[in-house]
Amino acid sequence: MLMDVKWAKRIADLPPYLFAEIDEKKNEMKAKGVDVIDLGVGDPDIPTPDFIIEALKKAAEDPENHRYPSYVGMLSYRTAVADWYKERFDVDLDPKDEVIALIGSKEGIAHTPLAFIDPGDTGLYSDPGYPVYPTSISFAGGTPYAMPLLKENDFLPDLDAIPEGVREKAKIMFINYPNNPTTAVAGEEFYREVIDFAAKYNILICHDAAYTEIAYDGYKPLSFLQVDGAKDVGIEFHSLSKTFDMTGWRIGFAVGNKKAIGGLGKIKTNIDSGAFQAVQVAGIEALKHYQTGLEDRKKIFQERRDIFCKGLDEAGLGYIKPKATFYVWFEVPKGVSSKDFSSKLLEEAGIVVTPGTGFGKHGEGYARVSTTFDTERIVQAVERLKEAKF
Ligand code: PLP
Repeated sequence: MLMDVKWAKRIADLPPYLFAEIDEKKNEMKAKGVDVIDLGVGDPDIPTPDFIIEALKKAAEDPENHRYPSYVGMLSYRTAVADWYKERFDVDLDPKDEVIALIGSKEGIAHTPLAFIDPGDTGLYSDPGYPVYPTSISFAGGTPYAMPLLKENDFLPDLDAIPEGVREKAKIMFINYPNNPTTAVAGEEFYREVIDFAAKYNILICHDAAYTEIAYDGYKPLSFLQVDGAKDVGIEFHSLSKTFDMTGWRIGFAVGNKKAIGGLGKIKTNIDSGAFQAVQVAGIEALKHYQTGLEDRKKIFQERRDIFCKGLDEAGLGYIKPKATFYVWFEVPKGVSSKDFSSKLLEEAGIVVTPGTGFGKHGEGYARVSTTFDTERIVQAVERLKEAKF
């Protein structure tokens, strides 16, 4: 007899992961013979730099690296992270207890609420935003509370608008600058406000800094930890995925408040067994020589950004020129929903863009493209976008 396998409510109630749904539609179009140009997922087409691959090859041959890694990461990897923070941001970190290795920052972000949210607690997150924030808050039994990112506030959350009752129940807050999907950036003044808010209401700040190294026109994004008092109230997630085009390698880290890093470590000890040591060794090389080739790689994204923005100008669609990230966040034509716009663009022009609402309800009115695809294809996509009728 077949058993009736039932999903737990925590996954049964979840909508399909954004990109899974888009993939299905894209594959349908491809099956019909349409030449689909996919500007959806932020997954760089540029290969990982050779010196990092060489370091992996060598490390993979060492049998010491074939055994279970440390849960929190090799001390040499954590030291390389601390050294990089000092060099890049002038932030001091103790590699022993203020740094933890992650199997990609998504893993660390998703596990964080388990360490700090009890059932009934609230977790604040920005909307539109990386979908993992609200999902992981719910997985931990918490109630996600969306902080809208609106154009009139430069896509920064308005902390004054959070009701008193919500502040009191909130245990963590996810923020992310340079921001995916809006590409907005944050300055010291905003972080100062966040730190004061966190200290007043005892809320752990979880700053997702995955895109600090992908910035243009001389702009250098801040680390949240550069601002006085940040380490008392928060942690910062970072990733090698975007900086070094290493999305498939699954390596990142979290840094900051000792007790918070310890809490995340306790969850991870019980769930995973750390990142492959050979990947950590390659990560050390990447961080030690982080500037090698970085400007050249950024130049490619910047050129694509400019091609796409020019296309938006010609198509008469509004946007704010991104200072950072490899996305462009633009306004869909008035009177059309984000979802209808994306569907129509796929059906009529064969272009995949992500509807703003895929990142939360406050993404309505917008769509996101990623410039992590071949430049020629972006040029073609722009031509098709200009011709599309809505
Ligand atoms: N945070 C943001 C804002 C992202 O956009 C992504 C990936 O797209 C991640 C975190 C996860 O990156 P990774 O798990 O590859 O480190």
